Amino acid sequence: MQRVVLEREDLPAGCEVDLAGIPLPERVKLLTGATSWTLHPMPEVGLRSITMSDGPIGVRGIDDGLGHSAQLPNPSAVAATWDRDLIGRLGALVAAEARRKGAHVVLAPVVNLQRTPVGGRHFECYSEDPFLTGWVAAAYIQAVQAFGVGACVEHFVGNESETERTTYLARIDERTLREVYLAPFERAVKDAGVWSVMAAYNRVDDGVQSAPATEHANLINAVLKGEWGFDGVVVSDWLAANSTVSTALGGLDLVMPGPGGPWEQHLLEAVDSGEVSATEIDDKVRRLITLGSRVGALGPEKERTASSAATDDLPSNAGTRALLREAVARSVVVLRNEGDLLPLAAAGVGRVALIGPAAVEPFVQGGGSASVSAPYLSTPTDALRNALPDAAITVHRGGASRRHAPVIEPELVSTPAGLAGYELTLLDTDGEPLAPALVVNASEDWNRQSPGYAHSARVRAVVRLTTPGTHRLEVGLSGAHKVRFDDEIVSQSENRVGADVILDSSANQPDGPARQYVVEPGQDVCVRIDAELQAVDAAAYGGFVRFQLRHDPQESDLDCEIAEAVAAATDADVAIVLVGTNEETESEGWDRQTLALPGRQDELVRRVAAANPRTVVVINAGAPVILPWLDDVAATVWWWLPGQEAGNGLMDALFGVIEPGGRLPWTLPGRADDVPVPNAVPVDGVVEYTEGLDVGYRGWDRLERTPARPFGFGLGYTEFDYLQLSVDPAPGGAGVRATVTIANRGPRDGREIVQIYVEPPTGKLPRPLRWLSGFASVDVGADATATITIDLETRSFQAWDPVTRSWVTPPGRYQILAARSSRDIRLVDSIDIALLPPVTGRTSAIPSQHSIDFPRDTVPDAHHP
Ligand code: BGC
Repeated sequence: MQRVVLEREDLPAGCEVDLAGIPLPERVKLLTGATSWTLHPMPEVGLRSITMSDGPIGVRGIDDGLGHSAQLPNPSAVAATWDRDLIGRLGALVAAEARRKGAHVVLAPVVNLQRTPVGGRHFECYSEDPFLTGWVAAAYIQAVQAFGVGACVEHFVGNESETERTTYLARIDERTLREVYLAPFERAVKDAGVWSVMAAYNRVDDGVQSAPATEHANLINAVLKGEWGFDGVVVSDWLAANSTVSTALGGLDLVMPGPGGPWEQHLLEAVDSGEVSATEIDDKVRRLITLGSRVGALGPEKERTASSAATDDLPSNAGTRALLREAVARSVVVLRNEGDLLPLAAAGVGRVALIGPAAVEPFVQGGGSASVSAPYLSTPTDALRNALPDAAITVHRGGASRRHAPVIEPELVSTPAGLAGYELTLLDTDGEPLAPALVVNASEDWNRQSPGYAHSARVRAVVRLTTPGTHRLEVGLSGAHKVRFDDEIVSQSENRVGADVILDSSANQPDGPARQYVVEPGQDVCVRIDAELQAVDAAAYGGFVRFQLRHDPQESDLDCEIAEAVAAATDADVAIVLVGTNEETESEGWDRQTLALPGRQDELVRRVAAANPRTVVVINAGAPVILPWLDDVAATVWWWLPGQEAGNGLMDALFGVIEPGGRLPWTLPGRADDVPVPNAVPVDGVVEYTEGLDVGYRGWDRLERTPARPFGFGLGYTEFDYLQLSVDPAPGGAGVRATVTIANRGPRDGREIVQIYVEPPTGKLPRPLRWLSGFASVDVGADATATITIDLETRSFQAWDPVTRSWVTPPGRYQILAARSSRDIRLVDSIDIALLPPVTGRTSAIPSQHSIDFPRDTVPDAHHP
C-alpha cells in the first residue's frame, strides 16, 4: 500500500534553471506528452515525469486498471451548495485522490458557462452565471492546489457547445468575452492562482483575432499571460492542437496527448527555419519546470509518509463516505413542497412505493471524460431500507427510459466451440489472422488489446435465449463492419472511423443492429453472431474493437410496468418517484435534441401523483428538463448526478437528516419554447453569441419570460424573513459591503443562501438588467436571526468599454437587492458610485456616498454563526 503526504509542500513560486546546456531536441521533446496522460522527464534539471488525469467528478487515474476512484456529485450539484467550506473539503478529497493515483495535475474544473440548457457538458459546468462559476472554481482550485496538486481550468474559451465541437467558431464580442466567458478564467488565474489552463477544441473570433483556441495569440499571450500575468502552463485539449507554428507562437505550452501531434520533430524544424525562436521554446520549458516544482515533480521524489487521508481505501473509507453523503444531501434543491410533505417523518411511513427508472438504475455520472469507476453505489433502495427498517418497501421501474438494452449477462454467450465468452481474431488488411483467436468474456466490450496495426477483427458468438417471451438482441459497434445474425447480414458499413468516435463519445453509447426473438416455453433459441469489425486506431487514445452485446430479456411491456407502479403507489403511505435523464442523454460529445424527459416518465409521474397525493418526485438529471407536471405534484426535489453516495444523500435530504440547502445554479425552464438560447448549433460552422451579456437568467429577465423556477431558487425546509439590508462602502474603500439581517421563522434549523444582485443605473453602455454579485451561505437555528455581511467587489460594478478597451465603472446610483433567488427580491437598498477613470484591476470603484431608500426596522438580536 502506498502512503502519501498530504501536508502542504514547500512550493517555489517559479524556477530559474539554466537551460543553455540542454540540447534543443530535449527541450522540444518536453513540450509534447510522452503518453496519453504523462509528460517526458527532463533529468538534466531533475524534472520527473508529470502525470495528468481527469477530472471534474473525481480523479480517474491514468490506467483504468488502477482501480476505483471516489465519485463526487457532478459539478453543477457542487455549485448548487453555494458552500465554500464544503467545496474546500471536496477539493481536498480530490487532491488526496490525485496523490493516491499518482496524478500531479487534475484536469478540472470546467468553467465554461451553461449558455444553453441542451449543452452536452452542461452537467460538467458549475453554473450559467459567471460570478458563481468563478467563485466555486476558485474555492475548488485553492483547495486542490493547497496540497501541491495542480488544477487545470478548462476549456479556454467559448466551449459552450458540443455540436461540431472540434471545429466550430465561437463568435463572441470582446465585451461579452470579458464580462461573461473570460470572467471565471480571470478569477481562476488572479484570485486562485491556477497552475494550468486548457485551451479548447473550438475556434474563437473575439473581434481582434479569429483563430483556434489553441492558437489564439490575443487571448493566450496578450490577455491570459500578458494582462493577467498567468505564469503556468497552457495545455491543449486532447488532440486539439493542429498546427505547428501558430500554436507555438500563439502561446500554447504543451501538446497533449502524445506521442505524435503537430510539435515534436515539426517544432524542431520550425526552430531551425527561424519561424519559432528558441526563446519561445524556453519560455514553455520554464513554465513546465515551474509546474513540476509546484506539484512536487522537481528534484528527488520526496518520501511519502503516513497519511490517513490517502490510503488505498480512500474512495470508500468512512470519511469519504460521510463527506460525499453530505455533499449529495446539501446539493438537493427543493423545487416544491406543498403541505410540508417534506421532510418525510419516518414514524408515519409504513408502506413506501419506490418507483421509476432511476430508482432501479440511478444515473450517477455523466458521459465522457468526466467519468470514474466508483468503488460502490449507495442505491436508493438500500438507503431507503436503512432509513425505514420496519417499513414495507416495494420497488417498481415503471417503464424504461433508455433506448439501448442493457449489456448482456455473460453467461448467455459462448464461442461456437462452446467456451464461455466470444471468439475474437485480429486481422490484417488482407483479412489474415495476426494472432490466434482469443476467447473474451462477454462483459468486455472495448477489446483495447487491439494494436494499432490491426485492420479489423472477426468476432464469433453464440447467444442462448432461454426464458419464454420476446427478447431483443443488439450489437453496439464503432466504424466499418459487417454483422450477421444466423447468416443474415443485419448491418454493414465501409465507413472507417478514428479518434473522432472518442471525441464525439459515440463509442461510449455505440449504435448497431438489433433483432427480436420469441422464445416459446421449453424451446431455447440460439442466435449465431458473426461480425467483421473495424479495429479502430484512435491515435493517442489507443486501439480498440468495439463489440457491445446487449440484451433485453423480456422486451418490456411498458403499459404493464406503469400500471403496476401506479397500483403500488395507490396502496402506499408515500410514493417516491425517481425520474431523469441517463448516459444516452447527457454526455460530452453531443448536445441534447430535447429538454423532455426520455421515455414515458412524464406519464408515469402524472399517473402516480394522481393515484397518491403523497407523491415525492426526485429528478435525477444534471441539466434542465421540462417538468410539465411540476406544480401538480405535492413535492419535487432535484437530485443531480449524485455519484457514489447517491442513495444515502438523497434519503438524508428527504428525511431532513441534513437540510437540503441546494439552490439552482441555472434557470429551470417551464417550456422549451421560452428558452432564450435554445441550442448552440453552428450555422455554417459559426456559433454566434448574439445574446451578448444576457446569459442565463439575464436573458430570461430581458425577454420578460417566466421560468418554472428561477436561478438561485430552492425552498429548504424552513421559512426565512428578510428583515434589513444596509449598503455601505466596504472597509478599505474597495467595493461595497451589504449587511443583511434574516430570521428563520420556522420550527426547524435551516440554511439560507442570501443572494445579492446589482441593478445598474441607466447610462451610455447597455447593461444586463440585474446580475449576481455576492452571496453567503448561513445556518440559522429555529426562530433565530442572523446578520451577514457580504462584500461586493469593485468588478461587480464595472463594465468592459469596447471603445477604450478597458474596464470602466459607469457612475450613478446602483440598486442593491437582497434576494432568495433572481426573481424573489426581498429587500432593496442603493448606493451612488462615483465616476472613476478607466482601470484594469479589480480595485478601482470607490463608492462616493450611499443612501438608504428603505426604512430600517429595529433589528432583533442577531448572531452570525
Ligand atoms: C475533454 C477534456 C478532457 C480531455 C482528456 C477531452 O476530450 O474535452 O475535458 O480533460 O479530453 O480526457
